[in-house]
Amino acid sequence: MTTMHGRPTGSRPPLAIGLLLVALAGPAVAAQQLEARLGEIAAMAERNNAQARTILVHEGPTLIAGAPYAVRIHYLRLLRRVQADAGNFRDAYDTNELIIGLAEAEGDPLNIALASLARVLRLIDNNDPAGALGQLATLGARYRDLDSREFDAGIEALHGMAYSAVGQYDRSLHHFLRALDIVDRHPTLWSPREADIRLALARMYVNSRDPARALDTLREVRAGHRHLPPRLEAAAYFYEGRALVAQDEIEPALLAFSRALELAHAHELISIEANVLGNIANAHLKARRYPQAEQAARAALAPAQRSEDRISLQMAKANLGFAMFGQGRQREGMAHVDAVIAEMRRAGAMSTVGRLLAEKSQALEDAGRFREALATTRERENVMRDLALNDRNKAISALQEQFKARERAAQIDTLRQENTVKDAELRHRGLVQTAASLGAALALFLCAGVLWLYRKSVRTGRRLAELNDELAYRSAHDPLTGLFNRRSFQDRMRSRTGEAAPRLGSADCFTLLDIDHFKRINDEYGHAAGDAVLVEVGRRLRTAMRESDMVLRWGGEEFLVYSQGVSQEQRPLLVQRILDAIAATPVVLEDGAELAISATAGAVSLPFAQEAGDGQEPAPQPDWEQAIALADRALYKGKEAGRNRGYIVAGLRRQEGGLELDLVLPGAAT
Ligand code: GH3
Ligand code: MG
Ligand code: MG
Repeated sequence: MTTMHGRPTGSRPPLAIGLLLVALAGPAVAAQQLEARLGEIAAMAERNNAQARTILVHEGPTLIAGAPYAVRIHYLRLLRRVQADAGNFRDAYDTNELIIGLAEAEGDPLNIALASLARVLRLIDNNDPAGALGQLATLGARYRDLDSREFDAGIEALHGMAYSAVGQYDRSLHHFLRALDIVDRHPTLWSPREADIRLALARMYVNSRDPARALDTLREVRAGHRHLPPRLEAAAYFYEGRALVAQDEIEPALLAFSRALELAHAHELISIEANVLGNIANAHLKARRYPQAEQAARAALAPAQRSEDRISLQMAKANLGFAMFGQGRQREGMAHVDAVIAEMRRAGAMSTVGRLLAEKSQALEDAGRFREALATTRERENVMRDLALNDRNKAISALQEQFKARERAAQIDTLRQENTVKDAELRHRGLVQTAASLGAALALFLCAGVLWLYRKSVRTGRRLAELNDELAYRSAHDPLTGLFNRRSFQDRMRSRTGEAAPRLGSADCFTLLDIDHFKRINDEYGHAAGDAVLVEVGRRLRTAMRESDMVLRWGGEEFLVYSQGVSQEQRPLLVQRILDAIAATPVVLEDGAELAISATAGAVSLPFAQEAGDGQEPAPQPDWEQAIALADRALYKGKEAGRNRGYIVAGLRRQEGGLELDLVLPGAAT
């Protein structure tokens, strides 16, 4: 049982459009109108890819006949995106070549550069990440002065994918973060889209065996986009399923896979279909549900064959073998598995061979065939030893590619600067020399390789930890105030259920606060002043509270303080301290203006003080979400009563009609 992931293939390129683009010379059509129409179709494509594709292909020739260059390029870029989003990579690559041809004829370096990046994506898809890294180094040097954010973000994202493919996850993460940063700061960039980058990041996490981060990343993709194009949506479910399988959550994984499958069927994403079915089989095998595994493996055979994805097909056969084996058809099943192992060996896919052998020995062990299981384990160990060597070679070859590419790029630069005839000869000699010394440099480089790799693996581990910390920090904190964000509080609350109950007489206190008349600050002093006040309130709260209190930005100008182990007597003092911290001294703005501010608070404690009522069952304890809702109601009462004060919910009384709140005034803040 083995997982896989490949790329879909598609149908024929729009040849008519290619011819049309070359033979253009018609009357000038209102370019603006055409651009507007393309903008409409682009917006539609995000919601309904198939509809946009139909329109583009059918209206295309009339849309762009006689149109100026900019419109034709725009059209082709849109077509390429729509094709890729539908999983039609072959068509998308063909369109990309049309773009390069057109841009070259026009002498448009930006679009040549961008389309060259898309060629690199093809290298990654074709399992040649080392070649991709080399190309990226060359392109980076060649277009250093291009000054295009789209190019910068694209090249970062592709570095992320290529490093992920060679297993250098720390570097991969670093580049993905840089790509995201550029896209964040320039939200109007046409490509890469944030969702593209995050999905690639999720895939990296799945492959680096960090399913929890993969799932987090996918949640972020979903939170940011209500409508994902079909391929992205299917891929998101696919990676979600794989991450869940890695976490042994088989049922939710199957649910995710079935959604991916529905999308793959609806949009004819053949390769995704084959991959999903293969992974469904794998999930069932993991749960030892052999008949279901067999069914899924059989279903994967046809699409794998159609998608011309050799690995998918072999995996489907292996899964089928394991499923038969598990159902007692041991001989027949193992024959399938062994045939696949032999085939994978021939193809040099040794990491797959390693995984298959591990699964084979597990199956043999489960069947009580211990001696064979042991022999298979030994066989696997040998493969893994060779493989570690291969991985290292792959990493080195990736670096060599980069090294060579950088040298080449440096030469191109020098050549560009020297332009006299006399120099030409020197140049030639220089090149020959460089070529010779390049060989020597590479030999040296390889000698130093072993020591270097050792040191690097140490550094890499450290760097990866740092980057992961950075990522974790970003996802848990509010960017403006640096306080925790709502999400990290929710995580904390989820783990709260497992914590020991507070000591008798003390409780967890939730204090929600909202700055008074904050809109006025924005209106009178400007939004930046409002932001400065938020930052200052955050700072004051952190200073006033204990290290163990959690201070977070709940949203907008609302904050929450979560304090553990607060006794009933301490509660009003705590609320008072919070109100004082905010209101005691005015905030000084950048221009020296002094601003008096205050806040209103609502507080509630858990567990809740229960009334010892006439032999009645005490009301059930509210959960943290209900507690916050109560704090919010108390806060609202405080606003009504004149602001700059706190209300503590003292207890709940059960009456007909529902819950009643008992409010106490903690004593006005100064
Ligand atoms: P009240 O005393 O009743 O709370 O009055 P208020 O003016 O504070 O009313 P409300 O809570 O409705 O207004 C909150 C305002 O805070 C609205 C929104 O424009 C502003 N705001 C929310 N987030 C930010 C932010 O990040 N920066 C700035 N400058 N303003 C923000
Ligand atoms: Mg508010
Ligand atoms: Mg307010």
